[in-house]
Formats: sequence, C-alpha cells, structure tokens
Amino acid sequence: MSRGFSIKTRKKELEKCSTIDFDLIVIGGGITGAGIALDAVTRGFKTLLLEKSDFASGTSSKSTKLIHGGLRYLKQFEIGLVRESGRERAIVHNLAPHLVHPEKMLLPIVKHGSFSQFTASLAVSVYDYLAGVSRVERKEIFNKEEALKLELLLDKDTLKAAIRYSEYRTDDARLSFELIRKARELGCHVFNYCKLDQLSYKEGIVNGVEAIDMTDGARFKFKSKYVVSAAGPWVDGIRNNDHSLKGKQLRLTKGVHIVFRHEDLPLKQAIYFDDFKGRMLFAIPRWGVSYVGTTDTDYAGNLDRVVCGENDLQYLIEATNNMFDGIELKASDVISSWAGLRPLISEPGKKASEVSRKDEIFESDSGLISIAGGKLTGYRKMAKRVLDLLRDKDRRLPQSNCITDTVKLSSVPFKDYREVNNMKQQIQSEFPELVQGPVMASYMVDNYGIHAGTILESARHLLTKHKDPDQALMQAELHSALEDEACYRPEDFFIRRTGMLYFAPERLLKHFDFILDEYARFFSWDSVSIEKFKSEALQLLKDSLVT
Ligand code: FAD
Repeated sequence: MSRGFSIKTRKKELEKCSTIDFDLIVIGGGITGAGIALDAVTRGFKTLLLEKSDFASGTSSKSTKLIHGGLRYLKQFEIGLVRESGRERAIVHNLAPHLVHPEKMLLPIVKHGSFSQFTASLAVSVYDYLAGVSRVERKEIFNKEEALKLELLLDKDTLKAAIRYSEYRTDDARLSFELIRKARELGCHVFNYCKLDQLSYKEGIVNGVEAIDMTDGARFKFKSKYVVSAAGPWVDGIRNNDHSLKGKQLRLTKGVHIVFRHEDLPLKQAIYFDDFKGRMLFAIPRWGVSYVGTTDTDYAGNLDRVVCGENDLQYLIEATNNMFDGIELKASDVISSWAGLRPLISEPGKKASEVSRKDEIFESDSGLISIAGGKLTGYRKMAKRVLDLLRDKDRRLPQSNCITDTVKLSSVPFKDYREVNNMKQQIQSEFPELVQGPVMASYMVDNYGIHAGTILESARHLLTKHKDPDQALMQAELHSALEDEACYRPEDFFIRRTGMLYFAPERLLKHFDFILDEYARFFSWDSVSIEKFKSEALQLLKDSLVT
C-alpha cells in the first residue's frame, strides 16, 4: 500500500502552501526541527517544515546513535541534562520500540584508567537514579573473570572489573524521519530539498520566508506568524542573515565514527571505554559490524562536507587496538565512516569535550527564534520548550499543552518490544528466500517497522524478475523509499533510509549500479543528470572510506 510521500508528486502541495497563512515555519529537518514540527502540529499549529537537503542530512545522521543520558556529563555536574535525557530514554523507546532498542553497556575498570571501581560504581548509581531506571534494569558489577565471560576481547592484563548498565540504541536518521512522517500524517506540510533563502519581514518583524525548491530552482514565498530556525550547525548563518548574531554563538566540534567488519572486531556487546588519556569512547556492535567513536575537535571547515581525516582515523584505531586484546586493526580494515558536527553553545576557555551539551533558545528583535545545542535524546523536551514559549507569548496561537509523550511514531505501531522481536523471528520463517538470518531480520524491522512485511511481500512478487533474490528485495526497498519516503538523491537511500553505506557497504556496492539505474528510471533522468548523481554518489563512497 502506497503511503504517498514522493518528491515526484509534491509540486502542487508546494504551490498550495504558498497560499496558506501558517502559524509556524520550521527551518531544518534534523531531529530538532522534526521534534518541533510534531509538537506543533499535535497542538493544532498550522505548520510548515523546510529542509534544504535531505531530512537528517546534517548532524542527525552522524551521531553515536545512542538514546542516552550521557554518563560522562556527570563529571561536569550536568545533573539537569543527565536527568532529563535519562528519563526521556524510556519514553522514546515506548513511542518507537522498533527504533529505540535497549542496549546493555559494559564499562570496563582497567589499571591506570580514568575510573576506579568505586567512582564508576557511584557514577552509574547516580546515573540510574537520575534516569529513574527500574530496579531490575539497574547496574550490575562483575569481577574480572565474569567480565571476561561477557566480553572476551577485554584485555586480561589490565582488566580489574566491569560495570554493566542500561542504555538505548537507535538509528538517528530514521528516528528523525519517522517524526517528520508522523508530523506530516497529522497535517504538517514538510519538504526536503527546499531551502530557506531569505527571511521576509514586515516592519522589521519576520513574517515568512522565501524558499527555493532545490530539485528545480523554483522559488516560493511562504507566510507565517513565526519562524523557528532549528538549522543545527547552520543556525548562526541564519542569525547572521537576520542581523541578530550577537551574544552567545555556536562552537562546532567534529565527531567521527569508524566501522569494522564484525570478524575484525568481534564484540559481543557494547563497550564504553577509556582511551587512556581520559577520553571515553564507544564500541558498538550492530547488524554484523562494529563501530567505534567518537572524536571531539574544533571545526571551521565546509559545513556541507564533513569527513573523517587521517588524524581522526589513526586516533580511533590506536585507541581501539589499545583497549582490546589481540586486536590489531589497520586503516585498511575500516569499511566505512561518518563525521558530524556538534552545534554546541560556545563557552570561552573550555576544551571541546568540556563544552555543555545543553540546548539554548535565542530570540531576536525581529521575532526569529533559533534553537541549538542539545542532544538527539532530548528532542522532545527541546520541542516542548519552543512550543511553550510560542504559546505563552501569543494568544492567537493554539493554547494547548505538549502531548508528544503519547504520540506513537509509526502509522502502524508495535505495542511493545516483544512484538518487535517476534516480527524478527516471523519474517525469517515466512520469507526464508529473502531474510536469511537474524542480521537481515533486524535490518528490515529496525528500519521499516511493521512496513517491513509490506516491503517483503512486494519483493516476493519481484522474485521472478531477478536471478538474485536480494536484488528483488533491494528493488522493493528502493521503490518504497522513492514513493513513500521522499528520497531524491541516491545518498538519501544509501545513508538515511537504510544505513547501508555505514553498516552494510558490501551490500550497497553489490547493488550500486542497479540502484542508480532504478533512480534514473523513476525520475526519468537524462544523461547529464545520471552523470551528476553518479559522480556525487561515488564521491560519497570515497568520503566514507569504503574499501
Ligand atoms: P541537524 O541534524 O544538523 O539539522 C539541521 C538541519 O537544518 C540540517 O539537516 C540542515 O540541512 C538544515 N538546514 C540548514 N540550513 C537550512 C536552510 N537554509 N533551509 C532549510 N534547511 C536548512 N546525541 C545523542 O542524544 N546521542 C548520541 O549518541 C549522540 N552522539 C553524537 C555524536 C556526534 C559525533 C555528534 C556530532 C553529535 C552527537 N549527538 C548525540 C548530538 C546530536 O546528534 C545532535 O544534537 C542533533 O543531531 C542535532 O540535531 P539538529 O536537528 O539540531 O541539527
């Protein structure tokens, strides 16, 4: 069943939007903008969201992909932040159980490490307490022998003990996309590849925007009582155009992750480890690979192309080799990588990793509202703060309260996590020719939720057309992405709808030409477009170090 969310058929909707008087225009389709759009539409605001590139193409597809309180922020006494994000974890898991998975994290206590068993245990207890973690989910302490049974790769010579505690793992881009799709389902107008070009003003007050449809260059004017900029690393650029860039500004820091085949870094479970210089890193197994990150360094380069540099690569490999027993990874073992920018609020004199992760709202004299900082995990609370602010300052706007803690993020949601796991079992027995093994089952259900079933049905109908059953599945996934998930560039599919570039690059390479051919057919690309999109996609593979 088509749910009809396609770039190809959106022109009329764009034209219609230029005749509507909106209550709110949201700039930016990352997690922050997506959360704001959903909160707004559920309160009855007439809302439009514009994203210049693809949804979640900024920082919101480049995170560590954890829904977490951030244990390390306790060191900086960020009690409020840890409490709020810690408590949000269970709420977001409940709203999208196929997207937000419980994940046990192991914190090894090692000789000469930054934590002693006492400080680590105390920190995790405070963390559990602040997050309101239930008694059964609370931390467990293991001695050296027990810890080695949990994770064989830990270094026998330096390991003293380990603490296991509860976190959640997600797919940041899919989470952002599901928020956007839900907002759309509830009446919000949302467009990717539609860029804010200029703010419009009446008597010095923002009253709308001029935007460009990036697929064909057409210009549109949209009117609105308020404009909120949730443009992540681009927030200060928009404040600058509004002549309101004064006071606090952004500090952008780069964070890189690298990916290994599971056989090269065969982690049994997620580890939060020490780089022996006081920085903490994550190593996380997922869908048959393991990824490690992150770095945290100041950044002043091109916001639209952020890549893993040689120093980032060497640092992450060295820290991983130092930590794990018998692991001697080389640059050529890296199968993929991603790099993103944290839009932090500057605090002069602090090191990059010490700057607070708290969000902040800026109101300019022109009425432009900007929000930056924060975390993926806190998206709902950030949105609530923005919407409460608008509601309280203007009686013409709907005066309702936030209800997003009850809005499930899928049109056909799972009741609970047990249903998610049952579906993973079920599709392996129902579609054995297409879903071979638990990794593929997780890929399908984690990405597509209950719609995985519909995609697999379509793939089954396509089986006769393909020698390789996996190509039939790829075709079904791709058509769902083009018709129902607003994909425009091949990278939207490779990275943000499927995560394939990061987590299954070999599958992507196998079907690369086929995917481009299908895109060309769907959009009726001419030969110039084919070359353009193909070279963009190849550049992306190069940037991601796919070997
Ligand atoms: P973005 O995702 O960057 O979205 C802004 C959007 O605005 C972009 O898509 C951009 O294209 C669009 N835009 C810009 N200009 C315009 C314009 N003129 N017109 C229209 N659109 C425009 N948080 C966690 O909770 N858990 C984690 O594990 C975690 N790990 C992280 C690891 C790293 C390496 C980094 C960098 C961050 C991490 N974070 C994590 C933080 C989290 O990822 C960010 O706080 C969050 O993604 C920021 O989202 P955003 O929507 O504000 O910005």
